[in-house]
Amino acid sequence: MSDVLVVGGGIIGLLGALELTRRGRTVTIIDAPAQYPPASWAGGGILSPLYAWRYSDAITRLSVDAFSRYQQMLDECNAAGVPGCEALLHSGGLWVETSGDDAARARQWAERWQIPVQAMPASERMPESAVGAGLLFPSLGNIRNPGLLKVLRTHLQRLGVRFESAMISRVVSGAVGGKVLAADGRQWQGATVVISAGHAAADLLRSIHFPMPLFPAKGEMLLYRVQPGQVPGVMLTERGYLIPRQDGSVLVGSTLRKGDDTTYPTVAGRYQLERLAASLWPQLASCSPAFHWAGVRPGCDRDIPLIGPVPGANGVFAAVGHYRNGLVAAPASAELLAQLITGEQPFTDPEPYSLSSASPSSRSSSSFLSR
Ligand SMILES: Cc1cc2nc3c(=O)[nH]c(=O)nc-3n(C[C@H](O)[C@H](O)[C@H](O)COP(=O)(O)OP(=O)(O)OC[C@H]3O[C@@H](n4cnc5c(N)ncnc54)[C@H](O)[C@@H]3O)c2cc1C
Repeated sequence: MSDVLVVGGGIIGLLGALELTRRGRTVTIIDAPAQYPPASWAGGGILSPLYAWRYSDAITRLSVDAFSRYQQMLDECNAAGVPGCEALLHSGGLWVETSGDDAARARQWAERWQIPVQAMPASERMPESAVGAGLLFPSLGNIRNPGLLKVLRTHLQRLGVRFESAMISRVVSGAVGGKVLAADGRQWQGATVVISAGHAAADLLRSIHFPMPLFPAKGEMLLYRVQPGQVPGVMLTERGYLIPRQDGSVLVGSTLRKGDDTTYPTVAGRYQLERLAASLWPQLASCSPAFHWAGVRPGCDRDIPLIGPVPGANGVFAAVGHYRNGLVAAPASAELLAQLITGEQPFTDPEPYSLSSASPSSRSSSSFLSR
């Protein structure tokens, strides 16, 4: 029996397990058989919320130092001899199309959170692009998330974390911990259960009589292969974005369909993204995409993730609803989760993330843009 059972092995479950292992807990991660890629695989890996200044402080607190947190974690994995840690982090900066009052708000936000920023027209950043005035945040970047997941799994296995493949259908809370029941009849017991099952978490929370305003939100992405170095860093506009990888791949994203939990790419999605690609960087109009995929974001009505104990369910915690910001927020979310489980002083006020405070009235104003 492990101290902690983590249900869901996306980025939130994996990093939660790492933080708990660092604190001396034994952990078992129970992840559904890979019928579809988790959002953590499908996402773009931008290490900033999109138009970050339009979000609440609760999101900035979880995302402001994501780049250095990932850097530290990858250094740790590298030092432990885990293969594949190189070239995952891309420090090319984040360029955002903005002007006028919005740009002024962005500068104030950057000053407040001590994030370097400079005005730069898109033509200076990327001469062939078809976008306008904007700001460059040179200290921000992106991460290659499929590689990150592989590195993390290897690292955790070497640290003694157990992985089980099962679809959990029910969580049961008892006087001295929790139990999780799989659809195939297997069950596991632990002093603590963590629900980190992405967009499917709502069903598990319902099984312990704690319905939450969570919803699936499908997103599709395209990948093009071009000469490396042509896109210097993430280029973000209101319409969508370009994300470069160090091998020359360029990701174009993304679509957003609230309520859709299907994981297959669509013809309509491809058409939308091809038009977007050509509008951001005309050179892509004459290229064929090399890959097209879809993932399902774990949406949350108020756009702030829910992290903490599940009220009324002894020994059960949740880390869910990271929506469009799960990759950037994961390192800090995982630290907060582990601190709440072990009873340490949390690094930030946990109240904005608590499940008992979740209500539709605490929505942010950022729900206009797809990630
Ligand atoms: C197209 C797209 C682009 C994105 N771009 C970005 C970006 O640039 N930056 C950013 O920060 N975020 C981005 N996101 C959002 C980000 O990917 C998610 O917020 C994040 O990955 C959520 O992580 P998670 O671990 O909560 O969920 P997931 O990654 O979905 O993991 C959940 C895991 O739980 C498992 N599971 C589900 N149900 C059960 C069950 N009953 N029993 C056992 N296991 C179960 C699943 O198999 C899965 O492995 C993007 C998402 C999409 C789709």
